[in-house]
Amino acid sequence: MLSKCANASCSNPFLYLHDGKLFRMDVPVEHSSPAEKKAARRIEFFWLCNDCAASMTLSYKVGVGAVAVPANRARGAAGTAG
Ligand SMILES: [Zn+2]
Repeated sequence: MLSKCANASCSNPFLYLHDGKLFRMDVPVEHSSPAEKKAARRIEFFWLCNDCAASMTLSYKVGVGAVAVPANRARGAAGTAG
C-alpha cells in the first residue's frame, strides 16, 4: 500500500489523494511455475508528492520497481518555472 512518495530520495508521507499525483502502472510478475509461460502482470499504484510531481514522473524498471525520473519535455517550453 502507498505510504510515502515514490521518489526514493524524498520522504514525504502519503496523506491525501488530492495532493501530489497518483500513477497506475502495469508491473510484470515473475511466474512461479515453469508451466506458466505467459507473462503475468498486475496493476500497482504509486504516488508522487506535490513537490516531486511538479518536476518528475514515474518510470517502471524491471528488477528495480518504480523510479522517479525528471519529467523532461513533458510540457512545452511555455512560461517560467512554476
Ligand atoms: Zn516527493
